[in-house]
Amino acid sequence: MRGPILIIGGGIGGLTAAIALRAEGHEVAVYERAPELREVGAAISVMANATRVLKHYGLLPLLLEHGEPIAAGIIQPNDGKPLKPPIEIDTGVPGVLIHRADLHDTLLSAVPRERIHLDKELKWVTQDEDSVTAIFADGTEARGSLLIAADGLNSAARRMLINDGPPIYRGYQCWRGVNPDAKLDIVAEVLGHGVRMGLIPMGRRGAAWWFCANEAEHQSDEPEGSKTKILRLLEGWHSSARDLVAGTPEPAISKNAIYDRPAKRGWSKGRAILIGDAAHPTTPNLGQGGGMAIEDAAMLARCLKHFPDHGTAFRRFEELRFPRVKKIVDRSRVWGAMGQWSNPVACGFRNLLLAKMPSKGLAKDLIEMMNYDPFAVKLDS
Ligand SMILES: Cc1cc2nc3c(=O)[nH]c(=O)nc-3n(C[C@H](O)[C@H](O)[C@H](O)COP(=O)(O)OP(=O)(O)OC[C@H]3O[C@@H](n4cnc5c(N)ncnc54)[C@H](O)[C@@H]3O)c2cc1C
Repeated sequence: MRGPILIIGGGIGGLTAAIALRAEGHEVAVYERAPELREVGAAISVMANATRVLKHYGLLPLLLEHGEPIAAGIIQPNDGKPLKPPIEIDTGVPGVLIHRADLHDTLLSAVPRERIHLDKELKWVTQDEDSVTAIFADGTEARGSLLIAADGLNSAARRMLINDGPPIYRGYQCWRGVNPDAKLDIVAEVLGHGVRMGLIPMGRRGAAWWFCANEAEHQSDEPEGSKTKILRLLEGWHSSARDLVAGTPEPAISKNAIYDRPAKRGWSKGRAILIGDAAHPTTPNLGQGGGMAIEDAAMLARCLKHFPDHGTAFRRFEELRFPRVKKIVDRSRVWGAMGQWSNPVACGFRNLLLAKMPSKGLAKDLIEMMNYDPFAVKLDS
């Protein structure tokens, strides 16, 4: 095999892959489409399954310095009354609520700057017996031993490897923002009718929020603007939710249509493989999309170390990862669909179900998901 391992995408999965592969002694080169390294102004939950991986690479202290450990959370309807006491989350290693820019900077701190090439949009991939070549939009090329595509939801590499059409819109949009002056004690998800909101403490960065509403895929917020629209949809909600949005500067509000794909195998071809959202995009309802990209990176580095032949390593990686990611993608889709129910009878039923479900039962499922440890998975079949 010749040349470095080429990593396409300098997001969560790509940067973690660079860290994990370098830790195993590989030479890497990251190619990122954007002309500068920047993240949206929003929070991200890095659940314990992901912080466990980042701890392995020595990054937990930095994460904790910038973020807020997740100790407990509540899910409640928008009547302001808690359904039940907060769900205690004890996972050994803490999950962290953190500004995306701080997570990105934490990952970047562990990748030498000269290993990252900006303004490199992957357009095509060619392969021969012992190398793979990435061809970029600016006409340049890079040759390496393997190619790991972490180029996200609308992956160009996926189009070349699987070509299964665009991701599937799930019927709702998600707005996110950060209110630098707000303070929150506890992470909460508040359910309404066809809308729901997340409230996220973020330490020195203030507090963050997300808000989901049923809408057409390309629905614009103009002319009223995002903030006015969200506040209109939050009419009658508790003031803590409304104040959080009201205190967020309009330009700091971002909006994403929510997509996923049914989990599908076939992530590699020859010397190229997909990881993260490129392989298994998920809706954000369990806060696990980034976490799965981080797990992928660690597991792929382990497989490439354990199996000298890259074909065997790629095959085993997919065998080990597919059941895990399928479960999360499926559950997240169901949770999102229920969260977006708009029929008052259905919402009443959902809220009753949540109220009746013992906190421990709900927490058990989430904690099981967070207790996954890619370093403890046996690699040989
Ligand atoms: C509203 C919302 C909330 C979310 N909340 C959470 C959460 O709380 N916790 C969590 O774990 N996950 C969350 N996620 C999911 C998470 O953001 C993604 O799963 C995660 O970013 C996937 O990482 P990735 O590296 O695979 O892709 P990305 O982070 O999308 O990175 C892809 C990178 O590739 C680059 N790129 C794209 N195309 C090309 C190309 N052709 N050539 C070169 N570079 C390219 C992009 O510019 C980008 O930098 C959320 C997602 C959304 C939409």
